[in-house]
Amino acid sequence: MNKIEPLVIKLAETKLNEEGVKQLAEHYTAIDWLERVRKIQPNDSEFLIELAGRACYKSFGVGINPNVTKIRDNPKDYLTNVLEKGDGSILEHATVTFAFLNVSRVFTHEIVRHRAGTAMSQESLRYVRPRDISLWLPPDLEPASEKFSETVEEIEKRYHELESQFDWDKMTFEQKKRVTSALRRILPDGIATNLIWTANHRTIRWVIEMRTHPSAEVEIRMIFGKVAEICIRDYPLLYADFTAKQLADGTTQYIPKYSKV
Ligand SMILES: Cc1cc2nc3c(=O)[nH]c(=O)nc-3n(C[C@H](O)[C@H](O)[C@H](O)COP(=O)(O)OP(=O)(O)OC[C@H]3O[C@@H](n4cnc5c(N)ncnc54)[C@H](O)[C@@H]3O)c2cc1C
Repeated sequence: MNKIEPLVIKLAETKLNEEGVKQLAEHYTAIDWLERVRKIQPNDSEFLIELAGRACYKSFGVGINPNVTKIRDNPKDYLTNVLEKGDGSILEHATVTFAFLNVSRVFTHEIVRHRAGTAMSQESLRYVRPRDISLWLPPDLEPASEKFSETVEEIEKRYHELESQFDWDKMTFEQKKRVTSALRRILPDGIATNLIWTANHRTIRWVIEMRTHPSAEVEIRMIFGKVAEICIRDYPLLYADFTAKQLADGTTQYIPKYSKV
């Protein structure tokens, strides 16, 4: 048994094509707006979301759309108004990709329930035959940690006994895959796995709210607490309405002023 800790890594995020943005601004006669706003808004994701929103009403400046007589001048006011009104669909234009490493299958089973606006790739236990059982010990089990470790080691021992019933060197890759898949049925839900998760900001806001709530499971709360920290740091306007509340178990709940935009 190998004791591990869940890990959250930010892998990728939306990046602007500056040349394309310039072309679009020319199309909307909005070069003045582009030059002024890009100086104060260097964040590609937040900029793209504002751009998509303004394209809806041609609200890059007064007079471009004759119906528009005033505009919100700066990105902060613009995005705050979007969140306040719940116009969340434009938040779907920008995404973040995370690696969730050393997470349990308890966690992955729960996160797949969030379908809207997500993409997932999970390590396959049909292809990957574990050498050992790597596992995170939930703090609630601390008083029973010795017994817990003994139990996992027993399962690990039994797994290897079953595994040794097969002559792996003589098996085709397809046969190995079938047996690996069959053998995993005795492995615990807590066994560590890895997941690559991409979501747009509308979805991330919602999942942070749902999954850092005290009624959610402790591991998913820890992981989405880290996701919240990253998003508040890297997309300050899109997550400006979140407040952090320390919970008794050491995790943090993140509560948005504007729920489910
Ligand atoms: C604390 C907690 C306990 C839970 N306990 C259980 C449990 O005991 N058993 C269980 O089965 N699940 C449980 N869940 C999972 C829960 O029921 C949801 O499936 C999960 O949280 C996904 O959220 P969502 O429905 O908002 O979907 P998401 O995919 O996150 O979608 C976001 C929003 O998009 C809209 N949407 C998405 N898909 C559709 C659709 N097909 N049609 C119409 N609108 C859609 C909805 O407004 C939805 O809220 C629990 C979740 C939490 C946070």
